Amino acid sequence: MNSLVIPNMNPNLLLNKYLPLIEQVATVVELGNVEKALLHKKTGELAMVLRALKDISDPAERKQQGAAANVVKAQLEAALATARQRLGGQTGAVTVDESLPAIVPARGHWHPLHLVQTELVDIFRSLNFAVYEGNERETDDYCFEFLNIPASHPARDLQDTFYLDTKRSDGLKEVMRTHTSNMQVRMMQQQQPPLRMVVPGRVFRNEAVDASHEHTFYQLEGCVVDKDISIAQLTYLLRLAMSTLLKADVKIRLRPGYFPYVEPGFEADCSCTQCAGKGCAVCKYTGWVEMLGCGMIHPNVFKAAGYPAGTYTGFAFGIGINRLAMLKYGINDIRYFMQNDLRWLKQF
Ligand SMILES: [Zn+2]
Repeated sequence: MNSLVIPNMNPNLLLNKYLPLIEQVATVVELGNVEKALLHKKTGELAMVLRALKDISDPAERKQQGAAANVVKAQLEAALATARQRLGGQTGAVTVDESLPAIVPARGHWHPLHLVQTELVDIFRSLNFAVYEGNERETDDYCFEFLNIPASHPARDLQDTFYLDTKRSDGLKEVMRTHTSNMQVRMMQQQQPPLRMVVPGRVFRNEAVDASHEHTFYQLEGCVVDKDISIAQLTYLLRLAMSTLLKADVKIRLRPGYFPYVEPGFEADCSCTQCAGKGCAVCKYTGWVEMLGCGMIHPNVFKAAGYPAGTYTGFAFGIGINRLAMLKYGINDIRYFMQNDLRWLKQF
């Protein structure tokens, strides 16, 4: 007889080995494994013991060993049945407590900047504005020159702009766009007024990062060009867009502001939605929140676009999406947007 093939000829040893195991199994899978170790046709230990009985030559001995093996078999099968019942009935069945709440899988969701951007784009789309996305990598003529920002202007300074080390055959320098206004002249060159468009997107500044400054942030540029476009239409549009976004009836206040590509230029403030203009920490107790830069498009911009002089008027505005998101959600540090801290992002 080969002890390698029949490892355990004394069936009582199987009882000692398997009964405690069967009593301890905690899952249906564990029980299945024990069952397999005992009863598998080829490798199960009990199956091998039973199979070996036929090799016993003495009939009396074979009868005695066979009876002993059957007692062990019955005991083990009873133990397996008890364990199966304890674990929930039949083999393979999983105990289910239907009263427990389901495990909800974590789902992805939009970033707060994307939420605000999408909402803004939807508002302008509903007012029949075309939506364009532009190049983030831009030549300095579309980013500066055509927008009436001459080479001597401080905005072109290395401290504010990321210049790229690319060599172009036309000799133009390339930059990471500092504003979404880079699309203004590009789109004006491609179509004649009337023109109504917004350009949402990512912009870059060579800034020292702190609670209110980031090197990468999001803007939404907008412009309207036609005959007889006025500042009154600009304030009406801003009020409509901001009231819809902030779900409140906000007022718009214009203060003089300087941007080379508009004349006159304005800083537009929005009445504080947190305190309804009474004064709070968000509005620094002024009742107004600085919202965006805007103005009437400078004649030099129309000239760069190839429009005949004196024919068209228009306004342009640039909304800082990060700042708007901070106001909408009460966020006090711009750096949170880019940190990708899931604990923070999961709130939105
Ligand atoms: Zn306030």
